[in-house]
Amino acid sequence: MLELWQKLLQELNTLFPQAFEIWFQPIKPVQWNEKTGELTLAAPSAKVNTLRQTYRTVIEQLGRGQLGIKPFSVEIISNGASAAEPEAAASDKRSSDEERLEKTGLLPGLTFENYVHGNANQLAVAAAEHVATSAGGQYNPLYIYGGVGLGKTHLMQAIGHRYLDLHPKAKVRCVSAQDFINEFAAATRESGATNSQKALQQFDERYRTLDLLLIDDVQSFSGAKGSQAQFFRTFEALVPHSKQLVLTSDTYTKGLKDIAPRLISRLTQGLTVAIEPPEFEMRIAILLNKAKAFNIDLPEEVATFIAKRLKSNVRELEGALQQVIAFQQFQPSLGKVITIDVAKRVLRDQFSVNNNSVTIENIQKTVADYYKIKVADMFSKRRPRNIALPRQIAMYLAKELTQHSLPEIGANFGGRDHTTVMHAVRKIAQERKTDADLNHELHVLKQIIIG
Ligand code: ADP
Ligand code: MG
Repeated sequence: MLELWQKLLQELNTLFPQAFEIWFQPIKPVQWNEKTGELTLAAPSAKVNTLRQTYRTVIEQLGRGQLGIKPFSVEIISNGASAAEPEAAASDKRSSDEERLEKTGLLPGLTFENYVHGNANQLAVAAAEHVATSAGGQYNPLYIYGGVGLGKTHLMQAIGHRYLDLHPKAKVRCVSAQDFINEFAAATRESGATNSQKALQQFDERYRTLDLLLIDDVQSFSGAKGSQAQFFRTFEALVPHSKQLVLTSDTYTKGLKDIAPRLISRLTQGLTVAIEPPEFEMRIAILLNKAKAFNIDLPEEVATFIAKRLKSNVRELEGALQQVIAFQQFQPSLGKVITIDVAKRVLRDQFSVNNNSVTIENIQKTVADYYKIKVADMFSKRRPRNIALPRQIAMYLAKELTQHSLPEIGANFGGRDHTTVMHAVRKIAQERKTDADLNHELHVLKQIIIG
């Protein structure tokens, strides 16, 4: 029985690493009936309801699926205790996370420890670490900018966490510019309604007494005149008094639109650092790191495979990995180790959209090889069907898998007119609907081309 439960625990740990300590560790198996497949588990009474509602079915599915025990059912009873030892430690940690979030707006887990370094963010990380340990110094404000999903929010939050770890009593606040605007609007409304300045004063007070203020996505201040003026006052109350300000934005300061020039000049007076899209090695490191956090065994070759194809940002990488993990976990027959095949299957669509390494040339060569004709026939004027059809297929795939326009594609096929390309694209699209063989061949070709 104990062995059975250990196996289930392992599976649960993989599926729900974050819930593990709090929900599964306190559970003890108390009865196992091999004949009927009934397993009885005991848990602290406060946990029983949630365990029954949220996790019982999952445990049953794991038993039947992953462990192959059929029939298999689970009953969860109370062990009479209200709290167990390890659980207390876990919930302590959780409540301190929650408390920090409530007080400061800092999300658990967005720390330096979980942040991967690379060329793309080297300078930004160095500046952030410096600011976290020497707040209010020469790099004030610190202005971090970069495209979406590159890790600006994470880095900014990491500063807040590190600073609070070093100064537990300090006053820290982390908000998005949009929240600042909304809060300010609410205070303004309330002051208007009550015909007193109290709400506005409280708002002002809340910010000017901070030791560290982190404002995310300051481009949202664009056009919000009143909030900009208030933010300017906040700035003046903090920065000249060696209170640290950290800002993020999707653009460098000069690129900010509809923001008062005096504010822009303030924003540039500290240090501005950029975060670039992650380079190849960094993308691999991020995938491996994330997999480890999920307690998942991700072979390096699979990480490399994904990192080669998804290039634009970290959020996309994370999303892709989560999809692969989820897919794997709900197909017990695939086993534990993630393979390139699975990644390929799950991420097919993303790869084809993102893969800018797919070229017309590559398509022509692949299609010519596949149908055993010469690559030169892709450009030739010869028209026997065994040549014309592969050529049309190549044009069709070029349209589907690259960003090239019809005239560009035509030019790459021996200077053909764009109407010829359009005709080919329509014809193949039409034929594949009724011709199962052709449809299959197209699938295979696409796989080969995408890699
Ligand atoms: P941004 O604010 O620039 O749009 P985020 O900070 O929200 O991007 O990052 C998107 C996701 O990618 C988050 O889940 C974040 O934790 C993760 N992430 C970004 N950069 C890194 C990094 N260098 N190392 C680890 N995780 C990262
Ligand atoms: Mg962000």
